Amino acid sequence: MSRRKKIYEGKAKILYEGPEPGTLVQYFKDDATAFNAAKKDVIEGKGVLNNRLSEHFMKGLTAIGVPNHFIKRLNMREQLIHKVDIIPLEVIVRNVAAGSLSKMLGIEEGTPLPRPIVEFCYKDDSLGDPLVSEEHILAFQWASQQDLDDMVSMALRVNDFMSGLMFGVGIQLVDFKIEIGRQFDGDFSRLILADEISPDSCRLWDVETGRKLDKDVFRRDLGDLADAYTEVADRLGLMPKNPRSDGPKLVN
Ligand code: UDP
Repeated sequence: MSRRKKIYEGKAKILYEGPEPGTLVQYFKDDATAFNAAKKDVIEGKGVLNNRLSEHFMKGLTAIGVPNHFIKRLNMREQLIHKVDIIPLEVIVRNVAAGSLSKMLGIEEGTPLPRPIVEFCYKDDSLGDPLVSEEHILAFQWASQQDLDDMVSMALRVNDFMSGLMFGVGIQLVDFKIEIGRQFDGDFSRLILADEISPDSCRLWDVETGRKLDKDVFRRDLGDLADAYTEVADRLGLMPKNPRSDGPKLVN
């Protein structure tokens, strides 16, 4: 595995050259970082959970026609993906005030928003991924007006899909971040959803109790992060059943 060519290493994932042109292998690490990597730890099992969760969300999005980079899961920590040129923007969708929005505008965390809000942050760790407007994006040519329209409509479709999926298992989708990339096919190119969708990049609150089931558990020292992610996977029916936990069985 280590003989493969490493293309890029980020905070939570590594990208390797894929087996076919136009493909990559995305490896999910156990590393957790917050506050622009000022807080770091290794959470055993996080990579396995995020690989499985991201697979589940991407497959569902494919099924409803949201194009994305996922091809197939290869093993516990790796998935085969389409290679894209990432647009240097984080696209954030919010349904409920939390995190940086609450801080910036003094809105109490948990306040429902009158409509989903889509924000863009310029992807640059040295600047702390600053919030930018469409004017900045167009002026500095990070994306075109058509790209922006496509990104907003994709983000809102992801929001509707993920909100419904989560609500079905008693979880509120408070906000999330996605990344979008340009996939080339000869002279043709299109924008597709890339990166990952996992509890690392979403805020997920239990509908009944408000308990956090996402990376805020790590950011704010609220408990065991792997337990929280396991609970999300379990509610979605993704955890293998332990045959010994089904109670006693009659043996003939
Ligand atoms: N987010 C992310 N990566 C980032 C910044 C934000 O995945 O670099 C996610 C975060 O987990 C949350 C949403 O985007 O679900 C909104 O984050 P926010 O702007 O409130 O920033 P934070 O409070 O996390 O600094």
